[in-house]
Amino acid sequence: MNFHVLTLFPEMIRQGFDTSVTGRALANGLLHLNAVDIRDYSRDKHKHVDDYPYGGGAGMVMQPEPIALAYEDVVKDMEKCPRVIYVTPQGRVFNQSMAEELAKEEDLVFLCGHYEGVDERILEEIVTDYVSIGDYVLTGGELPALVMMDAVSRLVPGVLNNEDSAEFESFHDNLLEHPHYTRPVEFNGKRVPEVLLSGHHGNIEKWRREQSLKRTLERRPDLLETAALTSEDKKYLRELGYTCLE
Ligand code: SAM
Repeated sequence: MNFHVLTLFPEMIRQGFDTSVTGRALANGLLHLNAVDIRDYSRDKHKHVDDYPYGGGAGMVMQPEPIALAYEDVVKDMEKCPRVIYVTPQGRVFNQSMAEELAKEEDLVFLCGHYEGVDERILEEIVTDYVSIGDYVLTGGELPALVMMDAVSRLVPGVLNNEDSAEFESFHDNLLEHPHYTRPVEFNGKRVPEVLLSGHHGNIEKWRREQSLKRTLERRPDLLETAALTSEDKKYLRELGYTCLE
């Protein structure tokens, strides 16, 4: 997977990405990062990349030309046009199924805005996806791009040591994951649930599934509307008092 990030702050992207799991995947060659400084493509002698908005108003707007030149440089050797994601609070809200879809691509281009945003004309020209990380406004697109790149990276085969851990966690089947416990068996007077110490795999699986359903009902009941539920799951949810099942 090759990530290309068009940004005014490439160091922020490099430092944020080249750590921990994604850093190891970069070192192993499973992921590639191309953090492109849009400012390098400014033809202005002072390297300006933004200007006042036509029509007036507060803030500056990123100019289209440096972004167009940076984009052309990034795609010049690609065989097909890549998905270009403009990270923006005006986009579809990012979620796990979008991460799964994006993880199938060979190249992904992220465009990070700053200030008031980006001149609309370059967005119309190159952007394929408008994606937000939530209903709030940040100062720039670097953190949203890093969030999305991280979520996509861990779905790229080999990036996680144990591939199972990506498969059975929160949002798999649209349910939240069950709680986890590790040593010691007792902490501050609280014991690890006995079933997890029993070694009985069938009971452990059943307990985990029930915990997952219970937790989703308590914390994110909206997810249950589209969760893949078995008749056993539904029976358990009814016992917990959930009534919105057909
Ligand atoms: N004036 C813009 C608006 O109202 O939509 C917001 C501009 S914001 C201050 C600067 C940049 O941060 C945006 O161009 C975008 O790239 C990024 N950004 C801010 N909030 C974001 C969010 N929730 N999700 C994704 N990107 C965001």
